[in-house]
Formats: sequence, structure tokens, C-alpha cells
Amino acid sequence: MIDHSKEQGGAAGRSRDPECLFCRIVAGEIPSSKLYEDDDVLAFEDIHPQAPFHALIIPKAHVATLNEFADGDAKLIGRLLLTAKHLAAEHGLPGYRVAMNVNREGGQVVFHAHLHVLGGRRMRGELG
Ligand code: AMP
Ligand code: ZN
Repeated sequence: MIDHSKEQGGAAGRSRDPECLFCRIVAGEIPSSKLYEDDDVLAFEDIHPQAPFHALIIPKAHVATLNEFADGDAKLIGRLLLTAKHLAAEHGLPGYRVAMNVNREGGQVVFHAHLHVLGGRRMRGELG
């Protein structure tokens, strides 16, 4: 297995993409129903919810897919996941599903990396 632990870099300092829908949401150019925000992370309601609770959690910096994160982003990725935990607790979800689609083959439509957090009913179906 390849050791990626020396890979540097990180989302900090990456420029926003003016064409990117979620960068425009971060900039406030497109409205969203915000659920959480800090310096690095934004969470908002999915516009086409697939469950009673459906949030998207994104890094504020433009990162197109999971593949563009570097090992220097490990803390940021952890913060995205922990935001899912905090949102679920805040919204009283006893269980929930966290998913990230990667590239078109993985079902990704918006190329600014995001976690889906779904809950409010028992999750069903197959992931794939
Ligand atoms: P994905 O297929 O993983 O790229 O998911 C993109 C998600 O973004 C979909 O669930 C869409 O419903 C959601 N979405 C698209 N446009 C907006 C928007 N303006 N505000 C909130 N969610 C959006
Ligand atoms: Zn973006």
C-alpha cells in the first residue's frame, strides 16, 4: 500500500471557482437554508431532499471532489464528518446516513465536494 502520509497541501489558500454553484452559495450569491457555518465549513439544506432531513456539508474552499483533497486536509475532512454528527444531534436524529459521491461514475453532479447527511426516517435501499 502506498504511503500518502507525506503528501502536503490543503484546501486553505485554494481559490474559489466563480462558476461553481457551491462556491456561489458560500459567497452568498445564491441563497441557501444554512444549518451551520464556521470559518472553514458550511452546511445547508439540500434543495431536493431525499429524506425528511437532508443536509449538505461542504468545505468553504473550492475542492472539486474527494480526490482533490490532500493529506494536509485530514483535519478539514474530519471537521466535515464531525459536523454531520453535530447536525444529527441538534436535529434529534437517532440514526442517519452520510454519503459522498465522487465523480460522475460515483453519482456526483455538483463538483464541489460535499457530504450528504440523510435522516428523519429509517434509511432503506441499497447504497449502490
Ligand atoms: P451530488 O449528486 O452528490 O453532486 O449532489 C448534489 C446535490 O446538490 C443534490 O442532492 C442536489 O439536490 C443539491 N443541490 C443542487 N443545487 C442546490 C442548491 N442551489 N441548494 C441546495 N442544494 C442543491
Ligand atoms: Zn466550489
